[in-house]
This record gives sequence, structure tokens and C-alpha cells, in this order.
Amino acid sequence: MIIKKGYVVTMDEDMRVYRDGAVVFRGDRIVDVGKTEDIMRKHSDDEVIDAKGKMVLPGFVNTHNHLYQTIMRGLSDDGEGMRPEGYRWDIDLLRGLDRDACYASGAMSMVEMIRSGITCTQDSHYINFHRDSINGIAESARDVGLRLVLGRGSWDLQGLAPEELTEDIDTAIKESRNVSKRWHNGDMTKVIYEASLLSQVSDELILETKRAAQEDELGWGMHIQGPLASHKNDPRTGDKSLRRYGGRAMEYLNSLNVLGPNSLLIHCTFTTNREIPILAQTGTPVAHCPCANAWAGRSIVTPVPSMLDMGVTVGLGTDGAMTNNSLDMFHAMNFAALINKVNYGTTKAMTAEKVLNMSTRLAAKALCLDDKVGSLETGKKADIVLVDMKAPGMAPTILPIKNLVYSATSLCVDTVIINGKTVMEGRELRTLDKEKIIEEAEKQTWRLVEGSGHMDRYPDFLKRGKMSYMN
Ligand SMILES: [Zn+2]
Repeated sequence: MIIKKGYVVTMDEDMRVYRDGAVVFRGDRIVDVGKTEDIMRKHSDDEVIDAKGKMVLPGFVNTHNHLYQTIMRGLSDDGEGMRPEGYRWDIDLLRGLDRDACYASGAMSMVEMIRSGITCTQDSHYINFHRDSINGIAESARDVGLRLVLGRGSWDLQGLAPEELTEDIDTAIKESRNVSKRWHNGDMTKVIYEASLLSQVSDELILETKRAAQEDELGWGMHIQGPLASHKNDPRTGDKSLRRYGGRAMEYLNSLNVLGPNSLLIHCTFTTNREIPILAQTGTPVAHCPCANAWAGRSIVTPVPSMLDMGVTVGLGTDGAMTNNSLDMFHAMNFAALINKVNYGTTKAMTAEKVLNMSTRLAAKALCLDDKVGSLETGKKADIVLVDMKAPGMAPTILPIKNLVYSATSLCVDTVIINGKTVMEGRELRTLDKEKIIEEAEKQTWRLVEGSGHMDRYPDFLKRGKMSYMN
């Protein structure tokens, strides 16, 4: 298959762009990339997709997500969400998150992600009331055909997590290994082990999950200082983890010897200039979720420009639908560009090209998938997105990468190919039934809300928005 006459943005090592370019793939692999005239001379027999007027990009890689949250979108916003004692969200609502609910939530997430050009996502799954709920997430990705990096998370300290969600270390390792045995295939689904959140896990859990990941030759991950409330005092100095460890988070993790290219650190909002060299020297990647940073209203954003300057691998993520709330990569790209400018007080702090790098090449590297995806290069997997350059938001096309980040929306995405299979064409989803998936997800949402036993709280919650709801 040849995609020809496109504006091909390869995101390869030299950041090559072909104004009239072509990409050739056979099965699930890219076999050639170059100028259309050269490619057509070499591969004249292949089937052709005419991409004239389209930008051809590597599929976006979403470095952080919580797919279980999508069916609960909208329930915890503006500081008005249901927040019974001890946890940000309604724990009784989360108790209903079984395999069916997670499947429905995962499938709805994928409709949204594919329509914004995402071909691969990370997922942190740590709500394990139902041991098999994580299977619902993995099955939804498998059925849709989206590339998945599935993080099985655990926590063993109470605080943010209620007691019934914590696990002892042996259970955490055993369950994580069950997930990797079942789902890790080194191809479309890759499993990583996660110690969920720095201030909610013991040193032993950090060390043991990392050790198990190394033994099983898998990645490892952890949330560091994100939007969730684990830093109730001064967020810069009063962080519980700092008081507990007597040092900055990266210094502490480095002393535990758990950092490295295979250790994904999510958020890192409070990281200081003193700590960034540790990330750079150890090659530890960071998942940057700008919308989630802002959503929490705590006026602090991951210091991404400094991290990039010092050579840290930073991938862009949407985060989950309860702290963002969109799984749309265009939303995340636009916000990443803007908020980093605000944070550094200069328009030069972040560029469209850097943002695109963070949503493709660097994102793939952050998830240790850079041998497979993140750029359009010979030998890589055929995860390819076509964006309509004539769509409102993309034209005029003199500098289309700027438009892609600053003015385009996911409505500009025309075609999405994952692992050589076309999953969306002309904005029509081919491998999934959007209406059915959304209907099922709605059903699961209402089942969870009704099953929580807290329906009485919802009318009260709605009133706080100062609207008059006329039934
Ligand atoms: Zn998260």
C-alpha cells in the first residue's frame, strides 16, 4: 500500500518533512518513505491511497491515561464532584467498576482517541475492586485494534486510597504477573507494573514492583505529584513524600535505584531544577499531562521546557477523563503549547514542533516503543494518520505544523491506520460501532451511579452549578 502525494511529516531522527511525499507499508510494517516521484518509481505495483491535500503523520502516542474513568466523565469537576470521606471520588461508585464497566469505558475511550489520531495509549489501572476489571480494558483495546501499554497499579499505604483498595506486596506482584502473563505479547499489548502514587506506596512496594518488572523484562511506572490531592500543605515544600523521605522525590527515587529508561514517571509537576539532571542522567521518561495539571487549579505545571533543554524524554498525555477531561490529543497538544508559555512567561518556551515531538517520537520513546512507533521510518509499524489540510483550522497550509497544534481540532483527522489496518477512513470508524459503544457506556454509567447508593447526592451536586434543571 502506498500513501502518495501527502505532506509527510516523518518525525524521524532528522525531522524530515516531504512536501510531496509517500509512505509505503506492507502488512503491519512501513517499508519505504520518501518523495512521491522516487517512491512511485520503486513501488509502481502497490495499491495507492492519494493523500493530496493531507498531512501524513505517525499516529499519536498518548503517554498517560486512565481508561476506566471515561464512563465517569463530568462527575468530579469544578471542585464540586462527589467526594465522600477519604477519597477524591465516590468510592462506592468505583466499587461498581467491574469487567463490563471497564470494557464499556475502554471502548468509549477508543472511539474518542482514534477520532483524534491516537493509535497507542498508556493506561494506569489501579482500581482493582474487581480483580478482572483490568481485563475489560485490555479486551476493549484488543477488539478495537488500538496499541496499548497497560499499567497494572497497586498501592499499599492508606491515605488517598481506602483500606479496601490497598494490597499487600505479595498480592500486588502476583496480580501484576497474572496480568502480564495474560496480556503482554510484545506486539499490540504491552504490560508494565506500577507503584501507583509516590505518597501512597511503601518503599518495599516501590522496590518489589520494580524488581518484578526487571525480572519479567517489563517496564515500570509511577505517578509523581500529579493533580490528585496528596500534597495538602504548601505544594512545593510540604509534600508528604518530601517529609517522609527528607529529600526531593527524584533524589529519593534515585537513591532507591529505580530510575531509568524503563521507568515512566507520570506528571512530575513539582520537579525542581535540581532534580531534572537526575532524570536526564538516568534517562528516565516523564509523561506530561498539561490539562490535568491545570484542572487541579494548583498553579503549577511540569517544567517541560527545562526538561527538554536538559535532554529528558517527555511524552504528552491526556490523562483520564476525571482530571482533564478529554482524551483528544489535539486538545492536549494545544494546551501543552499554551500553558508552558504561560508558565515560563515567554512565547518561545514551547513550539508547535516540540509539542508534536512530544506526542509522537518522544512519546513512543517514553513508553519504550520507539523501535516500533512514533515516526514514519522503514521498519516501523504502520501506525499512520492522515489530517485534512483543507479542513477549517488547518488552512492556510503555508506552515501546517503550526496549525496542527494551534488551531486544528480532531475534526481535521481524516484517516487512521493502526498496525497496517485502517480503523478510520473519511472520519468513519471501521472497526467499531460508535453508537452502540456510546449507548452501552451510558448504561454502565447509570448502573454505577445508581449502584453507588448515593443518587441522593447528585441533585445536590447539580444545584451547585447554579443552573435551573427543569425535569
Ligand atoms: Zn494518572
